[in-house]
Amino acid sequence: MAKKGAREIVALVCSVCKSQNYITERNKVNLQVKAKKGEKLIVKKYCKTCKKHTEHKESSKLK
Ligand SMILES: [Zn+2]
Repeated sequence: MAKKGAREIVALVCSVCKSQNYITERNKVNLQVKAKKGEKLIVKKYCKTCKKHTEHKESSKLK
């Protein structure tokens, strides 16, 4: 993690079973744009618990 504060690491949590399956980075610029619209990051990814593709939502920010 080179630049402090430039990016945030967030967990992606399955919206069906709440499993934390992925960790991703997003930069703060995009974060603020999305926040203004009231949007949350939602990505379709494979959940090994559900054994299918589900919507994954950003969860608590990790350090
Ligand atoms: Zn799941």
